[in-house]
Amino acid sequence: MSRTAAAIRSADEHSAHNYHPLPIVVASAEGAWMTDVEGRRYLDMLAGYSALNFGHGNRRLIDAARAQLERVTLTSRAFHHDRFADFCTELAALCGKDMVLPMNTGAEAVETAVKTARKWGYEVKGVPDGHAKIVVAADNFHGRTTTIVSFSTDHDARDHFGPYTPGFEIVPYGDLTALAHAVTENTVAVLLEPIQGEAGVLVPPAGYLAGVRELTRERNVLFMADEIQSGLGRTGKTFACEHEEVVPDVYILGKALGGGVVPVSAVVADRDVLGVFRPGEHGSTFGGNPLACAVALEVIAMLRSGEYQQRATELGDHLHRELNLLVGGGAVTAVRGRGLWAGVDIDPARGTGREISEKLMELGVLVKDTHGSTIRIAPPLVISKEDLDWGLDQLRSVLAG
Ligand SMILES: *Cc1c(COP(=O)(O)O)cnc(C)c1O
Repeated sequence: MSRTAAAIRSADEHSAHNYHPLPIVVASAEGAWMTDVEGRRYLDMLAGYSALNFGHGNRRLIDAARAQLERVTLTSRAFHHDRFADFCTELAALCGKDMVLPMNTGAEAVETAVKTARKWGYEVKGVPDGHAKIVVAADNFHGRTTTIVSFSTDHDARDHFGPYTPGFEIVPYGDLTALAHAVTENTVAVLLEPIQGEAGVLVPPAGYLAGVRELTRERNVLFMADEIQSGLGRTGKTFACEHEEVVPDVYILGKALGGGVVPVSAVVADRDVLGVFRPGEHGSTFGGNPLACAVALEVIAMLRSGEYQQRATELGDHLHRELNLLVGGGAVTAVRGRGLWAGVDIDPARGTGREISEKLMELGVLVKDTHGSTIRIAPPLVISKEDLDWGLDQLRSVLAG
């Protein structure tokens, strides 16, 4: 049996089957390339769902992590450590906000935002205790906890995980009228992805985010943007909300904030919002640990240069130009996205997204399908134009076949 087959069989035997990975077993990776246990190389056009925006083994990030590994890695929040203040100050500045609440995973940051909005609702807005409502969008993806799946519309994510957490109202994504009707005096927040990644890289209609901003401001409701996947350079801006010159009240960040090295997430907002927390009311043993702060500080410094946003804009324009040439040619029915991020709908007659992904894998390109016949393209922002073009060549050859 090959090393690949042996590793997959053993994983199937001893891990819960909550994922259905492509049949590749990665042994090492650098930049935009991964090498499997057989020594075959693959171009990574998924980048860990944007957790690897800066590529695999990024020198600056690995050096920052290594230096911190030699000093101190974990203190818990029972004590201060010497990277914490810098991390919070720099991340708040990147977001143009006052305060940061650090967590680890994206789902934890979303949970933290939900708790923040409820507490703000009761203590600042004056909503009667226990009555807070948060409006969310259909086809959202915000993570996997019991509260978060309570407001998912995806049956796989939600079914048989009840009883569900109440307090959420679901409206169609991109529909301002529906949103305006759903907001009541007990609404404390609107929680949205500025671009819905998991749903197939759905970009809302022009003016939607600006409309949400106006509505939430008028009705004294927090606008919480889940920028876990869309943020930190992916779309050509630091935040996807910037495409409509929108500043939400609350940024929810994760994925790329940890540089593909460690899980780092955060909720970032002004003092009138995050100031609601007092000691003992929320926390995390690992949140804001020294290693996480050291890596995230380097991520923030890299984003401050604007270099990665620039790359995402330029390479993204190229990617979308090339992908749009495929639309209507038979195999591709639609292309959406922004920056170095695209959802490509394949004619179901040509195969499922999974089948297309497997064929691409055989040609040395890694992508991920989502919802039937859509494939998602999101290479690391450090990918070279030559490698991107090579990846596009493989896509064209799979779709021509
Ligand atoms: C990935 C993701 C999450 C959840 O992050 P985890 O780190 O997997 O918990 C939440 N929201 C969005 C938009 C995401 O893409």
